[in-house]
Amino acid sequence: MVTMDLAIVGAGTMGAGVAQVAVTRGLAVTLYDAVPTALERGVQRIHEALGRDVQRGRLSAEEHDTALAHLCAARSLDDLAAAPFVLEAAPEDLGIKREVFAGLDGVCAPGAILASNTSSIPITAIAAGSMHPGRVAGMHFFNPVPALPLVEVIAGHLTDEATVAAVIALARRLGKTPVRARDTPGFIVNRVARPFYGEALRILAEGTDAATVDRVMRAAGFKMGPFELMDLIGIDVNFAVTRSVYEAFFGEPRYRPHPIQAQMVAAGTLGRKTGQGFYSYDDAGHEQGGGQSRNEGQSRNEGQSRNEGQNEGGADAQR
Ligand code: NAD
Repeated sequence: MVTMDLAIVGAGTMGAGVAQVAVTRGLAVTLYDAVPTALERGVQRIHEALGRDVQRGRLSAEEHDTALAHLCAARSLDDLAAAPFVLEAAPEDLGIKREVFAGLDGVCAPGAILASNTSSIPITAIAAGSMHPGRVAGMHFFNPVPALPLVEVIAGHLTDEATVAAVIALARRLGKTPVRARDTPGFIVNRVARPFYGEALRILAEGTDAATVDRVMRAAGFKMGPFELMDLIGIDVNFAVTRSVYEAFFGEPRYRPHPIQAQMVAAGTLGRKTGQGFYSYDDAGHEQGGGQSRNEGQSRNEGQSRNEGQNEGGADAQR
């Protein structure tokens, strides 16, 4: 059997991002997704990202090939049986996550560590889907994973300290900065960031356009405005996180989601990943046209580099 250091469940934005970082740091990674086309897309994204790293001189051709040789794609959850550590990066839905953890119980060795990349769902609730909650913890990476150092590490009510230590050790091995956070809805970053998006959506509904809000927030020192950040995260992901925090706080009005989010999810305009969100994007994920007012008084050449240092919790300058 092939040695495996890390298995990742969910090959979307975050699963692929973590896999990319892990293989470049020499870990043998097996990536799994319940949707075969999503798995292919995730693997393709890693190939493209590592190719870009070579073009930019961040990786040598040899390092590139070695990294890709460490990546394996799995068609079935059963293929993760040998994993000593599994990171779940499936959609932000408690039912789906519980199902994944119950499935992993039936597949993984008793000593395997199981972590969730959830943005907001209490780890205690996710761990309740496992027969061994002591080995379940939160390991919350930020988007884009290669660029952002923070990993929130969360113990659920029944998580063993040895599990927390294993999560911290893996985060360090990936070159990240682990910070422990309490098991409260949204943990630290996403809790603080909710009003950033919520108030911006209310301002939009009152008649100020998204481009103006983003431009003003950048001029105030934030690396990205709330609307371009929501497009980067995924409107569906951001909406799910907001709903989860709102519901977990028993309908606290400060965290209430906005109907604009619900409407965009219903329309399938989910941001960069679908080519249309608050702005329009070409196939390479570069913004097109629509952002005219954003461009006034601000160079748009920063492109990719402006996105580095951003995360799903909010712009860097917030912290
Ligand atoms: P995504 O929609 O890009 O990817 C989720 C993937 O999970 C999809 O490829 C989907 O096919 C797959 N999937 C669905 N059901 C599955 C199952 N039962 N088993 C295996 N795979 C399954 O989502 P994402 O943005 O990568 O988010 C994943 C998790 O990471 C969520 O919990 C989210 O809150 C969290 N997160 C997201 C961000 C962000 O900025 N997008 C940042 C930090 C954390």
